[in-house]
Amino acid sequence: MKVTRTFAETRAAYRGVVALVPTMGFFHEGHLALIEAARGRADTVVVSLFVNPLQFNDRADLSRYPRDFERDAALAEASGGDMLFAPAVEEVYPEPPAVRVSLPALSAELEGAHRPGHLDGVAVVVAKLYAGLRPDLAFFGRKDAQQLALVTRLAADLSFPLQVVGCPTLREQDGLALSSRNVFLAPEDRAAARSLSRGLLAAADAAEAGERSGAVLEGLVAAELEAAGLAEAEYVALADAATATRIPTLDRRAFLALAARVGTVRLIDNVFLDPAGPADRGVRLDRPSLLYAKGNRC
Ligand code: AMP
Repeated sequence: MKVTRTFAETRAAYRGVVALVPTMGFFHEGHLALIEAARGRADTVVVSLFVNPLQFNDRADLSRYPRDFERDAALAEASGGDMLFAPAVEEVYPEPPAVRVSLPALSAELEGAHRPGHLDGVAVVVAKLYAGLRPDLAFFGRKDAQQLALVTRLAADLSFPLQVVGCPTLREQDGLALSSRNVFLAPEDRAAARSLSRGLLAAADAAEAGERSGAVLEGLVAAELEAAGLAEAEYVALADAATATRIPTLDRRAFLALAARVGTVRLIDNVFLDPAGPADRGVRLDRPSLLYAKGNRC
């Protein structure tokens, strides 16, 4: 595994088809599944590791973001990464960027409404990764559904010659979506955290059984959260998969997403719904074959 620090040094080591997997490190199986998926589609797999200050709307969240470079390098290599691009802040932002990159039509709701500036920070850094690394493919997780919509549209609108690939969410045995922030979950909050995926999976079942009302699907999730004592979900919303804007009826590809604070940790999760086919509930670590069988592929 080659560790690179500059865009130029990274590009100089390319051969064949290049896949990029952008991350902020502290790897879990969700990151590793993205790297494995990239390995299957490319000759050169570049994993980027950059904790992007611009996308943290909360300074405390940035300063306590977990980091473990040596472990990440070993895991990325074991999963099939060829290069770990880990730039200093000065390589990515030699000067505070004067440019603004934002996709207002995709950023007004959900995370955009609750984390001011976050999605603009994501758009800037991903545009810089697309432009500086020039990959043929870029792999992102469906776990961050609005981000996936945004980075897909960013590539299309700015004519970056690359394909964005979205991959299913990896889940713990109890359904909790893997997240670098889960290490901050207090043991006593774990049961409440489970209610997020329980609600979403119940809604996915209902959608597959023919339920099309956004209010009903959102209500199924809200009921599970309330039963677990999480009355204060920031949002529970059925949204168009491509634009991340709320829709009243499941009449196109969509995702049902939520954000909630569990103890001190803010968690997000979703399921992808399709009126014409099976839901994408994500992949449970202990039952990968079962969920893959339902068509949960990148
Ligand atoms: P992060 O390091 O949190 O910025 O995440 C890097 C990439 O991993 C993003 O594309 C995320 O959507 C993706 N990711 C995060 N958690 C998961 C998960 N549980 N399953 C699949 N992908 C994930």
